[in-house]
Amino acid sequence: MKEKEYKAINGWLEMEDVEYEEVFNFNKEYAKFLDDYRTEREFVKGAIELLEAEGYKKLDEFTALKKGDKFYKVNREKAILAGIVGEKPLEEGLRIVGSHIDSPRIDLKPTPLYEDSELAYFSTHYYGGIKKYQWVAIPLALHGVVVKEDGTKVEINIGDKEGDPVFYISDLLPHLGKDQMAKKMSEGITGEQLRLIIGSIPARNEDGDKDGDKKGAGNKVKSAILDYLHEEYGITEEDLISCELQIVPALKSRDVGFDRGLLAAYGHDDRVCSYTALRALLDVENPAYTAMVLLMDKEEIGSMGNTGMQSHFFENTVAELVNLTYENYSDLLVRKAIENSKCLSGDVNAAFDPNFPEVYDKNNTPYLGKGVVITKYTGARGKGGSSEASAEFVAEIRRLFNNAGVVWQTGELGKVDQGGGGTIAQFLANYNMDVLDCGPAVLSMHAPYEVVSKVDVYNTYLAYQVFLEK
Ligand code: MN
Ligand code: MN
Repeated sequence: MKEKEYKAINGWLEMEDVEYEEVFNFNKEYAKFLDDYRTEREFVKGAIELLEAEGYKKLDEFTALKKGDKFYKVNREKAILAGIVGEKPLEEGLRIVGSHIDSPRIDLKPTPLYEDSELAYFSTHYYGGIKKYQWVAIPLALHGVVVKEDGTKVEINIGDKEGDPVFYISDLLPHLGKDQMAKKMSEGITGEQLRLIIGSIPARNEDGDKDGDKKGAGNKVKSAILDYLHEEYGITEEDLISCELQIVPALKSRDVGFDRGLLAAYGHDDRVCSYTALRALLDVENPAYTAMVLLMDKEEIGSMGNTGMQSHFFENTVAELVNLTYENYSDLLVRKAIENSKCLSGDVNAAFDPNFPEVYDKNNTPYLGKGVVITKYTGARGKGGSSEASAEFVAEIRRLFNNAGVVWQTGELGKVDQGGGGTIAQFLANYNMDVLDCGPAVLSMHAPYEVVSKVDVYNTYLAYQVFLEK
């Protein structure tokens, strides 16, 4: 007999010693992945390595698909989907875990390089919902690509390796901070002030005329940086117009607390769902339905564009799957396969923070350590923008998790009318499939350094695995 009263349990209390070890080992591998692959492009690379090691092949390489085949497909180096063909016919639908691999960060402006007061800067435009004041006075790294006019791609990855320099955005000293400290926090640091210090040594005159150097102010620091970029990477200032260089915190993942139960890192949102989904897929054997993991870009800015969830990448790929599966391709089969699918939308929820109890409803918020969170609806101001899962689908997922011993909890994002948020769930729900948001809770979401509970990370992995398999 089940208890009449519902109460979420602490995942740490539910485990045997063996599982304890598994939780810590799993999180060690997750932490390393976070440190090795810090942007969506890098995540895609890391994902391909994991997938190929387990026998996954590019979808292009197949001439037909049969049960057990493992495939993956990359979209513009920034989004990836992978799947394993299941027992049942494709038209009966897929089991999908969808998440996103972009994280809040700072991007460069189109012509970023300039000099001010003999310091060289990159001007920037932030990406996603950040609290700007959190990104100053911390070590920053630069990751991404510069594509030259002839199409050659130069990769830049500097700030995270031992011995690398870092980059820096300055803040005002408290001694002169009187006016700044009286401002609203949202105005203490402005978007334009998020300019990155990238150099300080002026170029010398080639004829060695030091007096000339001293007199000529000009743009000598900028010019020295241009020389460096050209020598080191073979790029010019115009090449920066076609770059995707991202500024991310130069901070490695670290255990938190004497007991090491929490994990701090940059970009848990949403590499935590993406990584656990990927690992779950890799451990799925003989799924009933075709299992698919969908790792998209651009969620943090509304899932827009050709690499976001609003693009046709997913449905075009299902059309390819149908084409490789059935003797006679038909649009109806594609639509059936999509409409009959079920999906967990992997995204983080906000963990209750005793520092700010006023924004949470204590009975309807997730807690660190109480397992993976199912979030029936997201949205803001009266559920606006939410795709809300049906009661039937939530019951189905409860049953699945309870039977498999997954530690789970539920909750919504903060108090009513306190704010809100969305995920990729709505765009998948638009296909008329069942979708439920499901992922761990995170502390300090969207900060440069976020915190999750290791037992929640592990239960997220278990939840996705049991969902993809059944
Ligand atoms: Mn997210
Ligand atoms: Mn987010």
